[in-house]
Amino acid sequence: MMRVIGLTGGIGSGKSQVSAILKDLGVPVIDADALTHACQTRGQPVWAAIWQQFGWSILGPNGEILRRKLGFLVFHDEDARKKLNQLVHPSVRALMAQGLDVFRRQGQLLAVLDVPLLIEGGLHKMVDEVWVVYADLTQQLSRIMERDHVDVTEAERRIGAQMPLDQKLSYAQVVIDNRGTLDELKDVVTQLWHKAQDRAKPDDG
Ligand code: ADP
Repeated sequence: MMRVIGLTGGIGSGKSQVSAILKDLGVPVIDADALTHACQTRGQPVWAAIWQQFGWSILGPNGEILRRKLGFLVFHDEDARKKLNQLVHPSVRALMAQGLDVFRRQGQLLAVLDVPLLIEGGLHKMVDEVWVVYADLTQQLSRIMERDHVDVTEAERRIGAQMPLDQKLSYAQVVIDNRGTLDELKDVVTQLWHKAQDRAKPDDG
């Protein structure tokens, strides 16, 4: 039986960093953001469903979905956001399930599902354990501002659109403390992974 770890955090908490460290360790990771992007590329059924729903104006010169424009559109319209999620989520979930099946057939004992909105989307109920990446609110803010080149108001807005990180901790079996340096994070994640591997090993007896 393969154990599935759901990896999440709050925006700017360092989840993508943790995911990158895990991939470097050779961990089988499924990246929900990458799957979301992939299913919206030109020619995919979700791509067609999106422009049929939202009109030609959300397509760029090469027929690609203008993600910022679409994002702006749904940010100001809850019905539109729900509709978009209805178009995208089933495909993403199917791709996740396929990815996990591949890992299972490879005989992996552990796999990581990297999902920014794991808890908001209810996917935490589908995994065996939840890992939450934690940083202080001020660290989240400054990391978002630096990474995304936005001001503090916009960074606060992005954090405010998610469940508060403190609240997510109550869903976590493992909290990954990212209040230190990147080197410290690397050590923490490496140790956590080795412990998880020990737990996942089949009993000898
Ligand atoms: P998330 O995926 O949770 O939104 P990221 O992993 O992208 O967050 O981290 C946000 C930004 O902060 C990135 O630019 C990343 O390089 C930086 N960062 C993450 N962890 C640390 C850390 N411990 N020290 C310094 N910068 C960090």
